[in-house]
Order: sequence, then structure tokens, then C-alpha cells
Amino acid sequence: MNEKEKYQFETKAIHAGYESKHHFDSLAPPIYQTSTFTFSSLEQGANRFSGAEDGYVYSRLSNPTITILEERMAQLEEGEAALAFGSGMAAVSAVLIGLTKAGDHILCSKGVYGCTFGLLEMLEEKYQIRHSFSNLETEEEILAAIRKDTACIYIETPINPTMTLVDLELVTSIAKQKGIPVVVDNTFSTPYLQQPLKLGCDLVIHSATKFIGGHGDVVAGIVVGNEEVISVLRKTTQKDIGGILSPFDAWLLLRGLKTLAVRMDRHCENAEYIAKQLSLHPKVKAVYYPGDKKSTAYSLMQKQMKKGGGLLSFEVKGGYEETVKVVNQLKLISIAVSLGDAETLIQHPASMTHAVVPEEARKEMGISNELLRLSVGLEAWEDIMRDLQQALDSI
Ligand SMILES: *Cc1c(COP(=O)(O)O)cnc(C)c1O
Repeated sequence: MNEKEKYQFETKAIHAGYESKHHFDSLAPPIYQTSTFTFSSLEQGANRFSGAEDGYVYSRLSNPTITILEERMAQLEEGEAALAFGSGMAAVSAVLIGLTKAGDHILCSKGVYGCTFGLLEMLEEKYQIRHSFSNLETEEEILAAIRKDTACIYIETPINPTMTLVDLELVTSIAKQKGIPVVVDNTFSTPYLQQPLKLGCDLVIHSATKFIGGHGDVVAGIVVGNEEVISVLRKTTQKDIGGILSPFDAWLLLRGLKTLAVRMDRHCENAEYIAKQLSLHPKVKAVYYPGDKKSTAYSLMQKQMKKGGGLLSFEVKGGYEETVKVVNQLKLISIAVSLGDAETLIQHPASMTHAVVPEEARKEMGISNELLRLSVGLEAWEDIMRDLQQALDSI
């Protein structure tokens, strides 16, 4: 399928970037498990290196299986080009290092993935690349947070694990006037629910480990953007730092992508039901889910997302002890970090994903010791809810 944007999302998730006639009519994309590619002559090798001739050279630079994945992800995010990485963090680091130099400043949404926070601290300590956090809620707030040396604005929305949203259109409209690129970690939403590039953002990052793969069996990352930026990243922070994806893992992601739309619909449907039921439970203090009509994030969710997503958080009434008891009492739901899998997963941000964030900063981000994050899976919602119910009833 080579005619871009002709098909709907669901169709592109299955066909984009792949034409079986170029691959011995194989229905499934082949896994090109090779480190290098042969040249028919010295001249051809030289032309491949110089770029005078298209073609593959070495799998750290590009590989046909990876190319299919990159093309498919670019089309799903409605971007021009994409790059695949060996992990979400390889993608995040390639982008942040690629967009900054010593002395620059990175403006972040209030709340970023734990290891992204760790990377920002490292960049500051080693290379004096500073960062600051802002709610990015109003024009005044955004303008006040932008500095003369701000090299990029880095956003997660929904913000993990409190599920607050950032208005992408508002931020990009201001960033555009200032000529500052906006990067969005779109891991929680996937392009099925949210397409930041269409809202004016410049780069989208995914931990493809999560909903893109969708089956809890691969660690991977993706970056999507325009041809120019992606080409620079491909020749610099991807090529020379080298956090590339393996062809087999690209194949697993291509397989996962085929069902992305149907999986996301079911994740969202299940999460909506669980959020509603949890909010009625007497042992639950609060539920945070942007797809909940009573949520303060609901109107913004409707503006920039298709549905509320597969993640929600809730606070247990009582204290830390009660929270521990609820988690340990679960039978069907697994205690694990990561998200977006077929299995429902629960984790305790204060002691797990956000344990590296100092307690003061955690409090400010709204991460209490009673907060639990649920990645709602694809099981029957009645079974997920019954498990939560019996665990909550036990305290
Ligand atoms: C998991 C995650 C990452 C990091 O991805 P890895 O694939 O684990 O390296 C980055 N951002 C978000 C929002 C994530 O959930």
C-alpha cells in the first residue's frame, strides 16, 4: 500500500508501508535478520554510502523490516517519517540529545516518565542542559515558563499517573510564535486516540513497548516527525548512539499494530466501566480518568482525544497499609509496571515508577502513597471489576 492517506486508520494499521509483491508475495512482512548488506561492486558501495543510490548498507543505519514499521508508524501518526529504537528511552534520549546543546533549557509538562526525569537530571549534571516543569495551562503560564534558551517543549499527556491533560493546541500555538519545537510522548494515547502532529506539534515519541506492541513481549521505541528532523536524528543520535531496534522486534510491533484499533476500543470501553464502578465503591477516595464525564479533564479530552484511554488511577480510602492490602489481595490483576497489555496490570507509583522522584516533587505532582495506577486490559470487564471489588472489600 503506497498511496498515502487514502485509507482509514484501521486499514493503514494493517497495510501501510508494505507491499507483498516486493517480498516474494509473502502475506506477513519478512524478518530481514541480517547485520549487513552486500554490494555488487565497489562503486555501488560508494554510491550507497554517499546516498547517490538508494539501498541498504548496514542494519544500524536501516533495515527493510524496520523500514516497513517506520513507514507504517509515520502514516498512523500522519507524519512524514519515523525512526524505530530499541526502547522508548532510546527514543526519548535520541530526541532530547538531538534537539539540545550545552546550556540549553527544556520546558516540560508537570510530570514526565520516571526515566525521562532521570535523563533530564543527567543532562543537567553532565552537560548543563537545564529543565523546568510547568502546568502549561494558560497562555500567561506558558509564556512565563519559556526562556530565551528554551530549545524544546517536552509534553506527556495524559500525564502519568495522575491522568491530567495538557492542551496541545494551546501550547503549540505559542511555541510556533517563538519558533520552539514541541515534542509529545504519545505512549498513553497511541495515534488511534490522539495525533499530536495534526495539532501542530513537531515530534511524537512512543514507548512502543506499551499499546503499539500490545502484548507485553517486546521493548521498543518510535519517533515520528517531518522528513527533515527525522533525517537529522537518523544520521546523528540514532546512528552514532546506536539504540536501534532488532528486525524481529519490528516484526512483533507490525503484528501488534494490526489490531491496535480494536484493542484500543476495548481498552477504553473496559476502563470507562471500571472507572465508573470504582467511583461508586465506598473504599475508593478518588478516581482519575479523563474519559469520566465528571473529570475536570473531560472537555479537553473530547477536544484532542478520541476516547479516554486504557489507563486510570485511583486512591484507596485509609492509608498506605490499606493500599498495600488491596494490591496484595488481587488475584486476576497482576502487580507489574508497564501498560497497554492484554492483561490488566496494577502498580504503586510512589514506590515503583516514581520512586526516583523526590517525595516533595511527588506530592506536588499529586502522587500520594494511596495512589494506584491501573492499566486496564482486554479481559471481560466483569472479571476485572470482581477482582478489584473483592480486594477493596477486604479492607
Ligand atoms: C514506558 C514509557 C517510557 C519508556 O519506554 P521504554 O520502552 O520502557 O524504554 C517512556 N514514556 C512513557 C510515557 C512510558 O510509559
